[in-house]
Amino acid sequence: MKAIRNYINGVHVPAVSGDTIDLFNPASGSVYAQVPDSDEQDLTNAVEAAKNAFPAWSALDVNQRSSVLLKMAKLIEDNLDAFAEAESIDNGKPLKLAKRVDIPRAVSNFSFFAKAITQFSSEAHEMTDAINYTLRQPLGVVATISPWNLPLYLFSWKVAPALAAGNTVIAKPSEVTPMTAFLLSEIANEAGLPPGVLNIVHGLGHKIGASLVAHKDIKAISFTGSTRVGKEIASVAAPMFKKLSLEMGGKNPNIIFADCDYDRMLKTTLRSSFANQGQICLCGARIFVEQSIYEKFKNDFTAAAKKLVVGPPFDEHSDLSAIVSKAHYEKILSYIELAKEEGGTILTGGHPVHPKDHENGWYIAPTIIEGLDPDCRTNQEEIFGPVVSIIPFNNEEEVLHFANNIPYGLSSTIWTENLSRAHRMAKKIEAGIVWVNTWLHRDLRTPFGGVKSSGVGREGGLEALRFFTEPKNVCIKY
Ligand code: NAD
Repeated sequence: MKAIRNYINGVHVPAVSGDTIDLFNPASGSVYAQVPDSDEQDLTNAVEAAKNAFPAWSALDVNQRSSVLLKMAKLIEDNLDAFAEAESIDNGKPLKLAKRVDIPRAVSNFSFFAKAITQFSSEAHEMTDAINYTLRQPLGVVATISPWNLPLYLFSWKVAPALAAGNTVIAKPSEVTPMTAFLLSEIANEAGLPPGVLNIVHGLGHKIGASLVAHKDIKAISFTGSTRVGKEIASVAAPMFKKLSLEMGGKNPNIIFADCDYDRMLKTTLRSSFANQGQICLCGARIFVEQSIYEKFKNDFTAAAKKLVVGPPFDEHSDLSAIVSKAHYEKILSYIELAKEEGGTILTGGHPVHPKDHENGWYIAPTIIEGLDPDCRTNQEEIFGPVVSIIPFNNEEEVLHFANNIPYGLSSTIWTENLSRAHRMAKKIEAGIVWVNTWLHRDLRTPFGGVKSSGVGREGGLEALRFFTEPKNVCIKY
């Protein structure tokens, strides 16, 4: 049985209490490792280490910090296969996806912010009798809290800019998928990261996560996860006036007009619906299709979804693999039942799958539902699984109403060859991200985040570096 360790002050240690949590392999449903069940004692040690490390780390020349982060990127890349295998076992995602997307993106996150910090500058504002310049200084000890769906990808998306900007970090990966954060801590010393600069505490959200949020010496919290937990975090951190970045849930519209490039749309819609078992915050769970092509789309999309192979993560033929946990698997299945109660028709899927030799794993067939009202619970609440709902619409005005009439506003996708319509729709859609004729096409320099209940603040590019620094204006009179 593998034993994951906390990483505090450059050393791998168990939780002070010695308590652990079981870690499951979703492909087989069995326990395969133990995770520290950290508490306040571990946090005290991590905060102490991070505070001690801050003066030297923040005072380093940016090029020195940059070179350590580049080394981190290189070491992940050198060990790409090991990281990808660990991610796939831990999360249940197809190995080929971890190799192609998750781990390469973690490499890019470190190299991107290593380079970005060397280009980061601040403003100057001249007056007739004075000059103002803005200092952008690191905050001190900051916390990052990340989810299970893209474990190392999102963990590094926060940790890399925080470190690049000169902060010291206490990072809490999801207790459901902590393995690749642990592997990262194993290369951190080799990359030359000084002790205490990055500390990783493992454990339960409502326990060590909540303590992290409430700790008086932690200046900022960068969180990605559910809207429910984001709300809890804000209720504790906001009255303490901490800086907060919240990336939360979504229920994204995928809007398909009859004048789209049909084949490209169909291929991409299959991906935006079911990639990573539909467990990507950017997946398009509500598919709105213009009435004139609704029947054709329904038949083609259903036929294509039926061909997707659900199988073990290490089988290269698998298009979808396991759902991350038993609890999440049961939640998804309960939403499928709800959809039926609400009058939906299951066009394909809607049931568990039991691949040979993996009968106890948590697999669900890609599921397409039709016939549901846009305002029903199935179409309003985040399911976060391989389940999509298709809904016909008549015109732009109607589909805009459907798309926006929801508490969420993370991303959206529009399929049309009509340029004017694309611009019109992009302007009116209530979402932080709009993709036209593509999906999950990412440039790391762009602002990333949601509106309404999907997010507060933006990550990505300079936005992330601004979040992890405090601007201070200096006015000098001539
Ligand atoms: P979650 O909110 O349950 O947990 C996220 C993290 O928060 C975990 O590390 C967890 O341990 C921790 N946590 C839980 N309770 C806490 C508390 N009280 N205080 C502090 N930390 C706490 O989310 P999840 O189930 O891991 O992830 C799925 C969710 O994440 C979905 O809602 C999905 O949409 C969202 N997500 C959003 C984005 C985005 O960019 N907007 C990206 C990926 C995932």
